[in-house]
Amino acid sequence: MILVTGGAGFIGANFVLDWLAQSDEPIINLDKLTYAGNLQNLASLEGDPRHIFIQGDIKDREKVAALLSQYQPRAIIHLAAESHVDRSIHGPEDFIQTNIVGTFRLLEAARQYWQNLEERTRQAFRFLHVSTDEVYGSLCKDAPAFTETHCYQPNSPYSASKASSDQLVRAYHHTYGLPTLITNCSNNYGPFQFPEKLIPLMIVNALAGRPLPIYGDGQQIRDWLYVKDHCSALRCVLEHGKPGETYNIGGWNEKPNIEIVQTICELLNALRPADYHKLITYVADRPGHDRRYAIDARKIERELGWKPVETFETGIRKTIQWYLEHQTWVASVQSGEYQKWIETHYQGH
Ligand code: NAD
Repeated sequence: MILVTGGAGFIGANFVLDWLAQSDEPIINLDKLTYAGNLQNLASLEGDPRHIFIQGDIKDREKVAALLSQYQPRAIIHLAAESHVDRSIHGPEDFIQTNIVGTFRLLEAARQYWQNLEERTRQAFRFLHVSTDEVYGSLCKDAPAFTETHCYQPNSPYSASKASSDQLVRAYHHTYGLPTLITNCSNNYGPFQFPEKLIPLMIVNALAGRPLPIYGDGQQIRDWLYVKDHCSALRCVLEHGKPGETYNIGGWNEKPNIEIVQTICELLNALRPADYHKLITYVADRPGHDRRYAIDARKIERELGWKPVETFETGIRKTIQWYLEHQTWVASVQSGEYQKWIETHYQGH
């Protein structure tokens, strides 16, 4: 049994679905169901006894402690977070509460639970904290990619809150010996991503004939990883990672934002012909916008033998295809429909 937090969000839902496609080990999925959590992502698991969904906040100490004591998981995979940089600029409070206070409470509950386990299960226990490359700050054009020893220089309330949570996790290992693992991953894309993030926003807007807003000059560079490859990396770190260590995860796919949008326009044009390029609209840059992130993933590749399966070219094609085939999902996450769906399907949780 493992406990996943944030398992109804984008990466969390992909992780839960992938896990249960490969293993019969059950998952307790603790998720608050904020605007970003969507149980429709997990509709294929309805009635599956291996998936136990609990609606709740990671800040709720009693609830987390009760879950740990009832289900006795061998690991916690911590994905729950407020995750959107733009939202953190307009309203940082939720980011501080969930990402910092929430991670602290979860760590406290995990520490107390872990300290009371009997020796063998105590040694095997893991707390896997899922984080981002944004904690490292911005890189100059020709600077080497972030390694695990790069100093932390977060520039947005989102990345500062994730950086704080990473440091707390690190401290719980060094101070209490909690067997923690930290992963810092680059930008993910793929099925079930809420259409506020770059790739799904561009696909959804293009299909609706709406403008494709590009911040500043569009030359901000990000590394991109297909979400299923992130999930396989998390499974690999969970099983083979060394407690107390950090692993960078990336796809060796550095691309400027404008190139991503142009690629989406070209691929869509081949599937649903239209002049999508004319929808590209440059808008005022995001305050404090980092110029470049790049991940050096050699440690996880060398020490744990992990490698991504998808290239950007194969992953983006799959993603576009998925959004084309799931227009109802898109429409429902953009409306109040899915809230109604939750109320009818998950009463009482
Ligand atoms: P998301 O916003 O899609 O999902 C977050 C999930 O957490 C949602 O289901 C939400 O309901 C839940 N949640 C939020 N606050 C909660 C709380 N207080 N208690 C319980 N549940 C809560 O995010 P995502 O893109 O899937 O990211 C998941 C994790 O991976 C985050 O920690 C994020 O920082 C990290 N990460 C994301 C990316 C990326 O490109 N998306 C890259 C690297 C790391």
